[in-house]
Amino acid sequence: MIKNKCATPAKDPENFKDIWIWLEQNDDRLSRVALEMASIGRKLSDKSGEKLVGILLADESGEAMAREAIEYGVDKVVYVKNPVFKHYRTFPYADTLGSLIMERKPNYFILGATHNGRDLASRIAVRVNTGITADCTEIDIDVTKRLLEARRPAFGGAILANILCRAHRPQMASARPGIFKPLDRMPGRQGEIERITSSIKEEEVVTKVLKIIPREEVDITTADIVVCGGMGLGKKEGFKMLEELANELGGIVAASRPPVDAGWITRDRQVGQTGKTVHPKLYIAVGISGAVQHTAGMKSADYVISINTDPTAPIIKYSDVALIGDAYEIVPALTQAIRKAKQDLKTKQPIAAK
Ligand SMILES: Cc1cc2nc3c(=O)[nH]c(=O)nc-3n(C[C@H](O)[C@H](O)[C@H](O)COP(=O)(O)OP(=O)(O)OC[C@H]3O[C@@H](n4cnc5c(N)ncnc54)[C@H](O)[C@@H]3O)c2cc1C
Repeated sequence: MIKNKCATPAKDPENFKDIWIWLEQNDDRLSRVALEMASIGRKLSDKSGEKLVGILLADESGEAMAREAIEYGVDKVVYVKNPVFKHYRTFPYADTLGSLIMERKPNYFILGATHNGRDLASRIAVRVNTGITADCTEIDIDVTKRLLEARRPAFGGAILANILCRAHRPQMASARPGIFKPLDRMPGRQGEIERITSSIKEEEVVTKVLKIIPREEVDITTADIVVCGGMGLGKKEGFKMLEELANELGGIVAASRPPVDAGWITRDRQVGQTGKTVHPKLYIAVGISGAVQHTAGMKSADYVISINTDPTAPIIKYSDVALIGDAYEIVPALTQAIRKAKQDLKTKQPIAAK
């Protein structure tokens, strides 16, 4: 019989305390997702009264990052220093964090569900014999029961599941990047930095970083204006038309998932449950039906214009303005009108002061 080690609950859950977040860093800088975790962690800490502790693994560049994390809301940073932590690698990170957890017993541990965060979270969960709720879109705490309420879409996004980890500790969750907005920086905010020097040696680490090749990725998550195309465009060339509109508006082109799957546009531009979450001031949905998996990534946009031939498409109920008709007629007309308005503004004579 295979004995399931993970079936053993924590014997002393009452001895676990504090909210930990992983301060992910890249290129000697805190990742945006680390600031997002600081924001959700701050909210949970204020609600529960548990201390918010940021865990930072870095080389000597970590000092500035630790101070920055405190200015973004963290109470204390545990900064584990070693040159091997310069770039993320599974084993030194998972071993170090696993040992820290066993020694210090945090009650909650939240990581950003980035590529590295997903890899790390699951490795740690196995090492410390607990569960993890992956890719959460909402996180809360039941203060009376000291239980993490980790929420994520389930059954293809049809329901929002609230997942509890009653018996094992720490209670772990990874949070989807782009959902939680970082707090405004609070310059001069004070907090504690605990410095630990890790003794891991480079020769003990089996994976070697030979070269870093930056990926040329478009960041749709920070754009103020997003022009998003869907299957209603019917062909790859339709995205050229959207590019023109986006250029006139100073925005960026994105897509629903099917055009990405069809190879019409790159995956870094996908909006939705399995893509990215955007919070633009203006979102223009062109030929998009508005499936829940899509709206999961755009429903916090300030203002939505949809262009669709079907007046009953679900996207309409998310729209401030719905233009019913063929995208191939409406989009060029819109682009032309914006171009003309900009020209008119340029050539308009200033009104002479009296
Ligand atoms: C687990 C899972 C994860 C998923 N993740 C994502 C995700 O991250 N992002 C995502 O987008 N989807 C995701 N999906 C897919 C999702 O369920 C939908 O299938 C998808 O969003 C539909 O894309 P669409 O709106 O572009 O296409 P369609 O649903 O085919 O809609 C096309 C729309 O265009 C309109 N139209 C047609 N012709 C024209 C025209 N000439 N002019 C104007 N309008 C026109 C139609 O009326 C229709 O409303 C996921 C699905 C699953 C199961």
